[in-house]
This record gives sequence, structure tokens and C-alpha cells, in this order.
Amino acid sequence: MAIFLGGGASAAEGAPVQSILFQKYFKTLREKNNYSDSVQVNELRAYFKQMFYIDVLQDNLEDVQFPTFEEAIGLLDLAVRKRQAFKNFDLENLTPNSNRIGYIRQYLVSLMAEVLEDRTSVANGLHRYLVDNLASLGYLKDIFFISTNYDLLIDQALANRRRIQIDYGINFAEDTSSGLVLPEKADSFAIGLYKVHGSLNWSYCPACNSLSLINGQQRILNLLTDSSHSRCNKCQSVRSPVIVPPTYFKDMSNSFINIVWHKTEMSLNDISHLIFCGYSFPNADMHIKYLIKRIQTNRLARLKIIVVNNHPGKTQEKIAEEKERYTRFLGPGIYFTDSSFEEFCNQPEKFIK
Ligand SMILES: [Zn+2]
Repeated sequence: MAIFLGGGASAAEGAPVQSILFQKYFKTLREKNNYSDSVQVNELRAYFKQMFYIDVLQDNLEDVQFPTFEEAIGLLDLAVRKRQAFKNFDLENLTPNSNRIGYIRQYLVSLMAEVLEDRTSVANGLHRYLVDNLASLGYLKDIFFISTNYDLLIDQALANRRRIQIDYGINFAEDTSSGLVLPEKADSFAIGLYKVHGSLNWSYCPACNSLSLINGQQRILNLLTDSSHSRCNKCQSVRSPVIVPPTYFKDMSNSFINIVWHKTEMSLNDISHLIFCGYSFPNADMHIKYLIKRIQTNRLARLKIIVVNNHPGKTQEKIAEEKERYTRFLGPGIYFTDSSFEEFCNQPEKFIK
């Protein structure tokens, strides 16, 4: 059995959804009022001003409509891929202002990490209830997780259990000098957690082409905000987290992401149940749709698909739209519940039976 965690699962645990990420960041920033000499803030301000006509330090943030995180970063990724630039925002060249596009991308990622970090500390523990309940039901050994989220809510819930070793589907380089390794646990078993859009705790060195795992929230923030923490121990190149936004033009060139996708597909071939949690099956996620369609059709017995994606206050209109999106693509016969992620976490046995 596989549990697929979308953005709604993180939102149910208090993580800010994509659409309010920027508003939340700049609001907090302005309340703290100590940003005047921050290169990151000034660069982000310039980017939002030119590209979206928003002055993040002056405008009334309640009235501003920000782009989504994916839109803001997607513009940069597409420009890099096309080897094009925007006015005032160059790719790498021989001027001092070189690769502004690359830097803005890093700042956007670190902004997201800071906002997510902020919320994780007051998390309501839903992911932990889920893992604990699955464990006491004895289901955990036959389950793996797929997540589209960059945050570490499910990672931490799994890491909390004494006998569980997380299998991200990829091999991390051993970097013992800085403690960037998976901690060994006695008589443990591995649980798959395939993060198909990357993860904040995966630190990639583009020179060594190696991936390290970062343990601990503070280390992740350090890595993102302070370049002295982000140097590769081996070659001194700057490492960055693997974040691959789910857009049509998704850059799948990071070889580790390809491995994760392959591993996800291979594992999905062996399951009989797939449970979608907090995932609205958005139109833009064509790569996910392609994957699910492959494993749905390349099998003998029919795959059972269950959808858990309600939350208090969701409009009937939105529910109907979502149901239509799911059934249109996956066909009739999927079990579309009216339950929330919270209900699933508290009583997973009701959905698995
Ligand atoms: Zn390196």
C-alpha cells in the first residue's frame, strides 16, 4: 500500500499553503523591521517589483495578490533552461551583476525554507499520529509514502520512531566529518519515503554530483542562509537543496530526482491500494498523472484508489470540481471519501480496510 501526501496534508498540520507563502514571509519580515542591509531582501524586492509590480516593503500586503511560489520560481527555471534572461536579471556572464537569476532562485528557496521552518515548530502532530497509528495497527511494514512536499513533517514523524529507517530511494554520500549521514538504528526496518519534488534536507553538490542528508532544522536554515555552512566538504562548492517545482516545464535533469521517480514507479507496481491525502490532482502535475496512469494500466488486478482530501469549510463547488478531475483522469471506481486528513490520521484503519 502507498500513501500519497500532497500539499493539503502539510496544510492540515499548519504549514502555510503555497498561495500565502510570500505574503507571510514579507509580513513577518516587516514586523521584525531589521532587514535594511539584507542582500536577500533587496534582491527579492527588486524581483517582485520588476516582474509582478509588487513593492514588498511598501505596498499594503493585505491587498497584494502574490504569484504562487511555483510561478515565481518557474519563470527563473524556464529562463535558465532556454538560456534566456529577463531585463536586469541575467544568466551568468562576465559582469559583476552576473547570474542574478541563479541568486534570486536561491533566495526564493531559502525564503520558503524559513517560512516552513517557522510553522513546523508549532505543528499539531498530525503526521506523527498517522505514523504511530499505522505502527500500532501493524501496517507500517507494508506501507511506503510518496510526497510532493518539500517540508519535513512526514520525515520527522518517521524519524521519531525508534525502529524505523527512512529509505528516500537514493544513496547519500557519507560525509562523516560534518555528521551528514542517516543515523543507524538497531534492528530497524526501512520505510520508503519518495519525495518526487525534492526535499529541504537534501543538499546537493553540483561539482561532486553527490547528495548529502542534513539532520536537524537549524542546519538546514544555516545551509540556506549562510554560505559558510553550505560549502561541500570535499570540493568547497556551494551546495543547495533539491527543490523541483511541479510545473509543466519541470527540470528533471537532476539525476537523483530521476532515481526517485524510477524507484517510486517500481514500488507502485507492487501495491494494491493507493491513498491520496491532501492532493487535489492539479492540472499542472502532468508528470504525476503520467506516473499514476502508467501504474494504473500496467497491471493485472485493478488498483484500488482512495481519495482523502476534504477539510472543514471546503465549498461543495470545489469538492465537485476535484472529484470531476480525479474521475475524468482515473476513471470511475475510485473511492472519493468526504473525510479530512485529520480523520485519516486518527483512524487510518477505517480507510485501509
Ligand atoms: Zn563537492
